[in-house]
Amino acid sequence: MALIDCPECGGKVSDSAEACPNCGYAVKKHFDTLKEEEKKKLEKKRIEEEREKRLKKKK
Ligand SMILES: [Zn+2]
Repeated sequence: MALIDCPECGGKVSDSAEACPNCGYAVKKHFDTLKEEEKKKLEKKRIEEEREKRLKKKK
């Protein structure tokens, strides 16, 4: 279990908590969204790198 900073009030929130105990902000949803976006970005980068590798091999 780790503590994360609430993006709304800056307080410490457990990463297993659904919402910030201080301000009620839905931190879990917020960080799930961030993680999801990060995953998508990495996947996109990986695909682009694969494509570049393939193009280089052809030459
Ligand atoms: Zn908060």
